[in-house]
Amino acid sequence: VDRVAVSSRPVVGVLALQGAFAAHQRVLADLGLATAQVRTPDDLAAVDALVMPGGESTTMSKLLVSTGLFDEIAARLDTGMPTFGTCAGMILLARDVLDGRPDQRSFGVIDLDVRRNGYGRQVDSFEADLEVPVLGDDALHAVFIRAPKVERVGDDVDVLARHHDVPVLVRQGNVVVASFHPELTDDHRIHRWFVDTIVHAATAA
Ligand code: GLN
Repeated sequence: VDRVAVSSRPVVGVLALQGAFAAHQRVLADLGLATAQVRTPDDLAAVDALVMPGGESTTMSKLLVSTGLFDEIAARLDTGMPTFGTCAGMILLARDVLDGRPDQRSFGVIDLDVRRNGYGRQVDSFEADLEVPVLGDDALHAVFIRAPKVERVGDDVDVLARHHDVPVLVRQGNVVVASFHPELTDDHRIHRWFVDTIVHAATAA
């Protein structure tokens, strides 16, 4: 029996150094997408897009450097790799990180200032229903866990959702970031929107 290797594209990678990567991968698989865990530069070379999960941005920053992924991801971001960061992933992609560790690195590809744990101790974690016009009329239930707070948004950043006037879902070019955890609820609309509008457009050529 002849076997034909079928490569199914696009492949959406999930940065799997630390944090909530498994839940993101499940959502992507539920949406029928090819996914792969990214832990090395070779893994990165095999994917068309990347999800950066929640977790601990300081730890992820260290692991990104020690695995050699930091510079490789920076180079892919330069060429427009579609990338979706949630929570710690938002911190890693932001231009400026407030209350970060001094040695913490970020890719600086979305023009935001974000404050780590910016919602403070008293509201360590909370849930809220958000209006997200790009996803339609139904509110999106969002879970925030020691979330970063956006304190400045650059002119080239599109704000897709706010919570009490604070941007919580934003886009600049092919980079989308959320301060909450859309992988922890059953509503997969953000992942679908990211894939349909950004990943497919970028990989359609
Ligand atoms: N507070 C974490 C950080 O600074 C982010 C929290 C999360 O990803 N749930 O990295």
